[in-house]
Amino acid sequence: MHNEALVKVRGVTQRFHTGRKEFIAVRDINLTVNDGEFVELLGPSGCGKSTLLRIVTGLQKPSEGTVLYRGEPVVGVNPQATIVFQTFALFPWLTVQQNVEVALKARGVGADDRAHRALELIDRVGLDGFETAYPRELSGGMRQKVGFARAMAVEPELLCLDEPFSALDVLSAESLRSELLELWQSGDIPTKAILMVTHNIEEAVFMSDRIVVMDKNPGRVVADVVVDMLHPRRRKSGKFANIVDTVYATLAGQTQPEHVEVGAAPGEPGGARALPDIAIGDLTGVLERLHEMPGRSADIFRLAEEVQADSDNLLSLTEAAELLGFATLAEGDITLTPLGETFAEARILARKEIFASRIRRLPLFQWMLRMLDAADNSLLERNIAITALELDFPPEEAERQLDLIIEWGRYAEILSYNDSSELLESEQTAMAKPV
Ligand code: ADP
Ligand code: MG
Repeated sequence: MHNEALVKVRGVTQRFHTGRKEFIAVRDINLTVNDGEFVELLGPSGCGKSTLLRIVTGLQKPSEGTVLYRGEPVVGVNPQATIVFQTFALFPWLTVQQNVEVALKARGVGADDRAHRALELIDRVGLDGFETAYPRELSGGMRQKVGFARAMAVEPELLCLDEPFSALDVLSAESLRSELLELWQSGDIPTKAILMVTHNIEEAVFMSDRIVVMDKNPGRVVADVVVDMLHPRRRKSGKFANIVDTVYATLAGQTQPEHVEVGAAPGEPGGARALPDIAIGDLTGVLERLHEMPGRSADIFRLAEEVQADSDNLLSLTEAAELLGFATLAEGDITLTPLGETFAEARILARKEIFASRIRRLPLFQWMLRMLDAADNSLLERNIAITALELDFPPEEAERQLDLIIEWGRYAEILSYNDSSELLESEQTAMAKPV
């Protein structure tokens, strides 16, 4: 059938029983993946992404609902689908080439054919020359490449990837991302669709055609965002930033209109919204503490005792958490948003990326980056920035705001400041660079 969807998930619910308790991991999931589509699944830990991948590939039978593959119900493991996990279990006693051939051997492919396909894929993922190396001789990124080659060797129609880059360093992740995108776009692999789980929002916008956003308790789909951009995509383009923002907003549970929430730039009508006077280390401390609490939620004043902050400081911290979309405040309680959870769970680099994305949408930072762009050699004198900030803030507050811009901007690695020359400079983060 010509335009039959490749995968149709219909009303899938998964329950787990622990003792006498019943737990709903995902509820009433509906999801379609079409021929030719690259779909990413995004959402906080525990929202059922891995469960959903296992169900889609037939590794797990759902409590309720069905999965159709080309219109046929999936019964047992779907031989057309391959799933790739966060870390590949390579066989330490086999060479790179043998590791790639394993799955082919299991499918009864003859020796010559096997070797031919394996060598070609090893070459494709950039491991030419390492055919006879053993896994222990390879870096983490190279091992992950072997895993890719092995997954691709069986020529799956549906390639499912579960956070394949999250255990890698930034550079290996970036290079593997490009390899995957290149393989996929070259059109000369038989893979018809990719379904990939990620924690990285910019990665999702960079690579996929559609982003399915999930939330938990119970695990469910909350948004479906189409990324209608041609490749190669430029991370600095306005459209890219808009889509990143849309996805962040669904995760941050944004309720107020954007201009109310973030304020205007200095000198513009509406007035600049001051950055709350906080230290980033205190903010991450509060988010981590909240993340450990039942329901990811706490009474604000109880939290003040827990983290031993005075109440003024804690109010600034909660305000910052809300401004950044990491938490919501209601009736004296503060509750982490899925984005806040993602941040609390992330490692330092991923945290910096999330933080950078969040502050780039604040008019105060957009204004600062514009000033830096327009400055000679992209260097801006402290005094000039202060004078501009004094359009909206009293002198002392202008000083404080600039110090906060510097601290937040440094943490996010979007700008740097030289304390002795008193010069500000913009800095492109790795993720912001076009690949
Ligand atoms: P994600 O991949 O989004 O982090 P998972 O799919 O791994 O989420 O898990 C979803 C929820 O289901 C989690 O709360 C997890 O603890 C629970 N879960 C997953 N597998 C099982 C299982 N086999 N038995 C009991 N609970 C499970
Ligand atoms: Mg998972």
